[in-house]
Amino acid sequence: MFDSLSDRLGGVFDRLRGRGALTEADVRTAMREVRVALLEADVALPVARDFVDKVTEQAIGQNVLRSITPGQQVVKIVHDALVAMLGADASELLLDVTPPAVVMMVGLQGSGKTTTTAKIAKRLSSGAMGRERKKVLMASLDVNRPAAQEQLATLGTQVEVSTLPIIAGQQPVEIARRALQAAKLQGYDVLMLDTAGRLHVDQALMDEMKAVAEIAQPQEILLVVDSLTGQDAVNVATSFSEQVPLTGVVLTRMDGDARGGAALSMRAVTGKPIKFAGVGEKMDALEAFHPERVAGRILGMGDVVSLVERAAETIQQEDAERMAMKMAKGQFDLNDLRGQLAQMRRMGGLGALAGMMPGMKKAQNALNDAGGDKILLRMDAIITSMTVKERAKPELVNAKRKIRIAKGSGTTVQDVNKLLKMHQEMSTAMKKIKKMGGIKGMMSMLG
Ligand code: GDP
Repeated sequence: MFDSLSDRLGGVFDRLRGRGALTEADVRTAMREVRVALLEADVALPVARDFVDKVTEQAIGQNVLRSITPGQQVVKIVHDALVAMLGADASELLLDVTPPAVVMMVGLQGSGKTTTTAKIAKRLSSGAMGRERKKVLMASLDVNRPAAQEQLATLGTQVEVSTLPIIAGQQPVEIARRALQAAKLQGYDVLMLDTAGRLHVDQALMDEMKAVAEIAQPQEILLVVDSLTGQDAVNVATSFSEQVPLTGVVLTRMDGDARGGAALSMRAVTGKPIKFAGVGEKMDALEAFHPERVAGRILGMGDVVSLVERAAETIQQEDAERMAMKMAKGQFDLNDLRGQLAQMRRMGGLGALAGMMPGMKKAQNALNDAGGDKILLRMDAIITSMTVKERAKPELVNAKRKIRIAKGSGTTVQDVNKLLKMHQEMSTAMKKIKKMGGIKGMMSMLG
């Protein structure tokens, strides 16, 4: 997510941080670079311009330049401005009405609407992140695309969420009415309506959305847009928000979005909060959109909070805290790595964690090339074949030991090298966090 933007900004900030003193001209140069980076990330021009103006004004206006750590201060100003641009607070779904609360999903065909409907339903019905479990019913109103209703039914079975029985020939408004009635009669907490998509925004589609909204009176109308379409995603969101009272946006395919323009401009252009990010095809590849954390990711600080949170869902709380502490202290040996690998397997494999952890992304790409999640088991075997000392002090592993470990684990010396390299990259990233004052320090720096 945001890799190329993150790299560009990282370069700019490294140069800023690398200097003891900053002049106004330094800041202006850096901000020109930030502007180019944003435009290259496909951020809407007025949004990028506004952003850079605000940041420049703050950075040269306050006592930033005379402070002890001007570079760091400028990064913080950029960070805060990014958070503001992304929408300040995380906004979850508002479902506090007399049940059933209706969530209506709208968007173009192929945006990931049906997939996201099922992902959200799964999240609500499983009580993810310690929230109360909801009884959810899903209904597809898509009568345009052949088999759209069946697709939702199949996903429903997969995520163990009920779907409204299909009656062939029914029109969207009729289905909505029937779904509402079923949800009321059968005591559902939430009704999710997956509406029909089109290839382009057209009036017939808008009229249909309005008619359905009129009947269903949704608490949430979420627009699903494909983040990979960049500016188009923002244009689609603008057209929809002019006609349908949207309450939020879901950006899908963020897993493949290196540029991030849609995410960055969406809030400013539409005024609607981004509520979720789709980060993969699997049913649990959906994240609540936290502007703070996304800004952190963009600035290359990794998303340690999400990582720890995800871990906490799968493992015991103490384990998560211990892991966070180790990470904060910059102590991270092969035993820790092994624990992490086991957790990763439990958390849905490498893909699910991509980009969350600083320094992990590159290692993960390499791993995925080398055979994806199977590699996790192989890595576990490698660490198991090491002695306790070697695990605590990986630098002990010399050429001779590598051969022994490779034999013992049924792998090759190259595999052992890869693992050691990955550990090294992770440790370096951890140390960076430590330099920023640990996770706590990082958070406080982030405000
Ligand atoms: P719809 O026409 O809007 O209902 O789109 P679908 O839900 O059928 O999704 C179209 C394709 O996009 C499917 O192959 C999904 O698996 C895929 N997809 C949806 N969301 C994401 C996401 O967040 N990341 C990735 N990589 N693929 C996604």
